[in-house]
Amino acid sequence: MHRRNFLTLFALTLLGAVNHACGKERLSGTAAASKGRIVVVGAGLAGLAAAQELQTHGYDVVVVEARERIGGRVWTSLQWADAPLDFGATWIHGTQGNPITALADQINAPRITTSYDRAITYNTSGQPLSPAAASRMAELRAQVLRAIAIAQDAEVDRSIRAVIEPLLQQFESVSEAQRFINFILNSEIEQEYSGSIDRLSAHWYDSDQNFEGDEALFVQGFRVIPELLAQGLSIELGQVVQAIQWDQSPVRVLTQQTEFLADHVVVTLPLGVLQAGTVQFTPDLPPAQQTAIAQLGMGVLNKCYLRFPESFWPTEVDWLGYVAANSGAWVDWVSFARVANQPILLGFNAANRGRDVEAWSDQHMVADAMQTLKTIYGANIPAPTDYQLTRWATDPFSLGSYSYNAVGSAPQMRQQLAAPLGETVFFAGEATNEDYFGTTHGAYLSGLRAAREIIER
Ligand SMILES: Cc1cc2nc3c(=O)[nH]c(=O)nc-3n(C[C@H](O)[C@H](O)[C@H](O)COP(=O)(O)OP(=O)(O)OC[C@H]3O[C@@H](n4cnc5c(N)ncnc54)[C@H](O)[C@@H]3O)c2cc1C
Repeated sequence: MHRRNFLTLFALTLLGAVNHACGKERLSGTAAASKGRIVVVGAGLAGLAAAQELQTHGYDVVVVEARERIGGRVWTSLQWADAPLDFGATWIHGTQGNPITALADQINAPRITTSYDRAITYNTSGQPLSPAAASRMAELRAQVLRAIAIAQDAEVDRSIRAVIEPLLQQFESVSEAQRFINFILNSEIEQEYSGSIDRLSAHWYDSDQNFEGDEALFVQGFRVIPELLAQGLSIELGQVVQAIQWDQSPVRVLTQQTEFLADHVVVTLPLGVLQAGTVQFTPDLPPAQQTAIAQLGMGVLNKCYLRFPESFWPTEVDWLGYVAANSGAWVDWVSFARVANQPILLGFNAANRGRDVEAWSDQHMVADAMQTLKTIYGANIPAPTDYQLTRWATDPFSLGSYSYNAVGSAPQMRQQLAAPLGETVFFAGEATNEDYFGTTHGAYLSGLRAAREIIER
């Protein structure tokens, strides 16, 4: 293994050998005398936010990233030149007071908004829900929420599935009522939290906080945010961290190719990567942190973008819902016809179903999606001219989409996950954010929090 220290690395990056941000202006200058050497593991929003904040405060910072790109779970595909597509995060969830809005405003990033009120829901045979069916669904929804509310006051935590099972059992297995309940559970809970109802904690699944305001998305893709945050940073791409030796000074961060030495390390590895144990901590992480890693859940949300020669669905709505016979199958769709004037549909698969479809071939996935669309819009709809798909659960540098509160976990475990290792290693990333887990703003705020922990020491 070739060993080099941080200053050597800096010299190399300044020569332009590997510096992602080479030639770009810094957002802010570094102090003349460095306050210390920092290695940030991961160039997602948490890592970039931490790095930017620490550099602004006079630390020498390098970001070490496994992929050949920045952004992590913010990833905009530019494959269709006229339609940037977000494979990961799409929306600023709640624009008011959201720190991502402030960043977007800083660069005047054009945004558009989708609305959950612009929606149409189809029954299993493909007809829009009649007013009578819609009110039957609303009644079942109230029953689902009531059952969960009661379970939230119970002493012992149970999965959402366990809580809803008695309600499901009141109906025939092939009944409309069961399909409606499964639709509600998938569309409103699994798609949002990415965990399966088999594992989501009834006590804590919705313990997160929300910002008010619109659901805004970026015309040029969410990539504009990591690109802003990366300005002026030294970022080493293609460096897969394998080990962090932390009870020594300097701390050693070992990658496949090299070694980085630092006074402090900020680890922003996704929960899925921490759970897989592919990065070895020496000594082992403390028991409380290991428990948090094991007990919190890493969920799955996958996307399938289909592009058509023209729109054949109602173009005034943003959301299309489908009450699938097969629970969770192509239940939610977003139309880009109104907001972006593009004949593009985005279909989602979440939780267990999201995990299962990753084993399918692209052709299988597109054919399955098309089957649902044909059920709704007829056999004569045009074939897609192109498609783009995600497979987040098998992505080795994510191993899932975002974290959720599983039965056996509790919100405070996110603080245990975030607890620093002595004075040396600090943790950030969406999963460490008790209030805003599973979001870009949660990741960003966690990065700022980890930076502050170092600065205030
Ligand atoms: C499909 C999907 C849809 C989403 N939709 C939204 C949305 O609409 N709105 C929203 O706010 N949020 C959304 N999210 C969540 C949001 O994208 C994440 O919460 C956020 O981007 C996570 O940022 P992070 O910095 O914590 O982690 P990441 O972005 O995952 O950053 C961690 C970085 O660590 C790197 N890494 C991993 N292993 C190693 C290693 N061994 N060595 C070095 N580097 C490594 C990764 O490559 C990655 O770049 C979505 C996520 C997904 C997947």
